[in-house]
Formats: sequence, C-alpha cells, structure tokens
Amino acid sequence: MRIKHVENEELSMRIYHAFREAGFDDCGIIGLEDMSGFVASAKERIRNVPASEGLYGLAINHTERLRETFPWAKSIVIASTWLGKYRFPEALRGRYSKGFFASRNSDKSGPEYREKCKIGRWFDENHIRWTGEIREGGQQIWGLRHAAAVAGLGIIRRNNFLYCEEGSWLELDSYLIDRHCRLYQEKQIKPCPEKCTACRGACPTGALCGANTLNPNHCVSLITTFGRGMIPEGLEEQQLGQWIAGCEACQDACPFNRRHDWNSGKEFPGLDALVPRMSPENIASTEDEDFLRHLCDLTCDHILPDQTETLRVNARRALSNSAR
Ligand code: SF4
Ligand code: SF4
Repeated sequence: MRIKHVENEELSMRIYHAFREAGFDDCGIIGLEDMSGFVASAKERIRNVPASEGLYGLAINHTERLRETFPWAKSIVIASTWLGKYRFPEALRGRYSKGFFASRNSDKSGPEYREKCKIGRWFDENHIRWTGEIREGGQQIWGLRHAAAVAGLGIIRRNNFLYCEEGSWLELDSYLIDRHCRLYQEKQIKPCPEKCTACRGACPTGALCGANTLNPNHCVSLITTFGRGMIPEGLEEQQLGQWIAGCEACQDACPFNRRHDWNSGKEFPGLDALVPRMSPENIASTEDEDFLRHLCDLTCDHILPDQTETLRVNARRALSNSAR
C-alpha cells in the first residue's frame, strides 16, 4: 500500500488491518466533507440527463443530510472486496450479475458474510461507535464509488464503475465511525484510452449515453431489478437480451476487465449447485416459490423476496429473445 496522506495514524492503520482480517481486500478512510464532490457530480448528472433526477436527487438529499442524520460521525471507512477471487459459472454469465451473485452480501447466513461481520465485533471491542450495512441492513451513505476514489482505492472510469488495478469487479462497503481518522492511498492506474468507447458501444439500451453519464430509467440492471422487469417507454423487449437479474455489458466490454478469467478462482459458496435451476426455462416455469425467494435473497436486496414475479418476467423475456 502506498499512503498519500494519513491522520491519527496509529488508529487509522489498526482499522486498515482489522478490515483486512475481516476479508476485505482494501480500505481507506475519508471525512464526511469529502462527499461534497459527490453532490456536485450528481447535480452535473441531473443537468446532463434530467431523467436521472429521481435517482440522483435522492442521493443528493441523503448526502447533504449526512451530518444531521449522524451527528456523532467523524469519518467514513470505505472498504472493497475483489469479486474476481471467485469463479463465476459460464451458464450464468450474460444473465445474472456477478456483482450480486458473487457478493459477500448476497447470502447473509453464509460463511463469507459471517467473516465480514468480524469488523463489527472489532469496532465494538475497541469502543468505536459505528454504523454500516452489517448493523443497519443497508448502506448508510450514497456515492460509494466516489468515496472509494477519494480514498485512493481506484479510479472511476467512463462507464461509471470504480476500478482498482485488476478491474471493476469490486464490492464496496461503507462504515461511519465516531473517530477522526484519515487514510488516503495513491495508486498508479492508467486512465481510459482517449478514444475508447467500448462500454458505450456495448450498452444494449443506450443508457450509458455519454462518458460518466447514465440514464437510470434505461439501464437494464435497474429495469430487471428495481423496475420489476417492466420495459419503459422508448425501449423494446429485445434490447434486454438474456439478462434476468442485473446487467454488466458495459463492464464486460471494457479492456481493463477483459483479461480477467471467470473460469478460475474459488467457488462462491453454494452457487454451483444452483446453476442447473437458474436457466430461463426453469425460472419461467417453476412453481417452487421458496427457490425463487432464495434467488431474490441473492440479489443483495435488488429484488425483494416478495417480488419473485420479477424473475419470472425477466426469464420469460430472455426465452422469447433467444427464440427471435
Ligand atoms: S449496466 Fe447495462 S444497461 Fe446499464 S449502463 Fe451498463 S451496459 Fe448499459
Ligand atoms: S470501455 Fe473504454 S471508455 Fe469505457 S470504461 Fe473501459 S476503458 Fe474506459
């Protein structure tokens, strides 16, 4: 690790090492004031794509009220986990998001999530007040990619994703703590090549309508999850291709991700056994609600367990698109 700036060094470094012990691959610590850049960039996004106001307006509101909501908080710890350590079954690629189904947050009763919970116990043992996903059930801050970029864990590329040296397959988690700590890193990561537009070219709906710009209403990842599979005005069914939960076309196409081999790595616990039942044919026709609810649980709260119909809608569309 190359440190750019550190404050309260002894505690900041202890926090860094505690996160590594809990299975995180990297970690930085920033101030709440560092999130003002996120508010500015969210406003810019709304100016560029007014249709994004619903999503980014919420993010701005939440971020601007951070100090009021958590008056005791003095720092944000932002931590990353490299998902590329897991292999991802070929049959799921192009249909299911690796960011959901290879996430430590996807199975809250699983060994990977239990390992992550060590960090909460460490904060408690060290009498540090904290909040975060593993305590409250949801991220407490918006703009995790911005926070991670400020902390120096990586850079945000034109497809809006955060990249470390290995690529964009990162899961980010944030924790607010009541101690003043700062830990900013410095990494040598090449920027996007000047003329590259591979991510935009791969976006099936044009949702990635410019560099660092997104129309969330047309993003397949959002349509197949929060949007419950309903096609918004201006799009056609076939544009969603084979996706059943999520979309990663703009990451898969990126040259900085292409060298990663999803056939190698360790199994994400329990995933291989589910693969035969995750075909679009089975999802569209199964009457096993418990199985579908389980799959919803594995989407990191993007499809709720009472929204199993969303999976069926997306699977039926995938089947019909493959028959075209
Ligand atoms: S996730 Fe899919 S739909 Fe959304 S911007 Fe990326 S490629 Fe486009
Ligand atoms: S595909 Fe090209 S432009 Fe898009 S994020 Fe990757 S390097 Fe940058």
